[in-house]
Amino acid sequence: MKIVRAENAGFCFGVKRAMKLAFEAAARSTKPIYSLGPLIHNPQQVEFLTQRGVHVVSDLDLLGSGDTLIIRSHGTSPVFLEEAKAKNLTIVDATCPFVVKAQKLAQRLAAEGYQVIIVGEGDHPEVIGIMGFAGNEARVVEKASDTRDLPTEPRVGIVAQTTQSLDNLRKVVCALLEKSSELKVFNTICHATTHRQEAALDIAKKVDLMIVIGGYNSANTSRLASLCAQSGVPTRHIETADELEAPWLEGIAAVGVTAGASTPEWIIEDVVDRLEALDGKNS
Ligand code: SF4
Repeated sequence: MKIVRAENAGFCFGVKRAMKLAFEAAARSTKPIYSLGPLIHNPQQVEFLTQRGVHVVSDLDLLGSGDTLIIRSHGTSPVFLEEAKAKNLTIVDATCPFVVKAQKLAQRLAAEGYQVIIVGEGDHPEVIGIMGFAGNEARVVEKASDTRDLPTEPRVGIVAQTTQSLDNLRKVVCALLEKSSELKVFNTICHATTHRQEAALDIAKKVDLMIVIGGYNSANTSRLASLCAQSGVPTRHIETADELEAPWLEGIAAVGVTAGASTPEWIIEDVVDRLEALDGKNS
């Protein structure tokens, strides 16, 4: 059985950077360090981080003066940062530079008097953070039909959640054309997501089975799995190598492997090793 690993599988630049900053901060500190919510949407890697002194807390009130807080790659709002500083926390900012760019553009648009529209999921931490920079007047739009009830504005400025699809951004922009006389659009979509999806779909055309690895709580992994499945190839979404089953590989000549942005390399390697072992048993 041929095993084809997709390019761009696993950690993206922003997640790799956040991991590096977290491990370095933990190594420097004599006490545990903290992230508000999991640093990454992968339970196995969160466990790995905990073993190395990076703990998850659910509330800022659980931290006290002198504690170290790592800001996740999704970023956060300026108000939250002020609160953390007021508590005298040491901040390690792992906000992905692509997210910082979206935050700054939203802030600039608001300062220039544009009605800011963020295309994305309103409850996603990245969008909540960008909203914080854009101010109280900003609105979140998930899809084109959400623009129907929006009032007409003279000047509208648009930024996107970094993981949005270009297709969705395009549809929202088209819908908003009718709602403003001046429309300024910044395409803040991160290419890591697009490239990963394209590479997976390219492989999906050439194999009999796709294995997509990543946390069940990872939105980008789930989207990757559904895109592969929609392309017509049988697709399995797994979190770890232990979930692989020998019967899945019966009659399979080629299997493709890809992974979401929050899947660590060691889990991908485990899966490839296990596929090789199961192939040996089947033959
Ligand atoms: S997906 Fe893109 S924007 Fe998000 S953390 Fe990764 S590199 Fe940064």
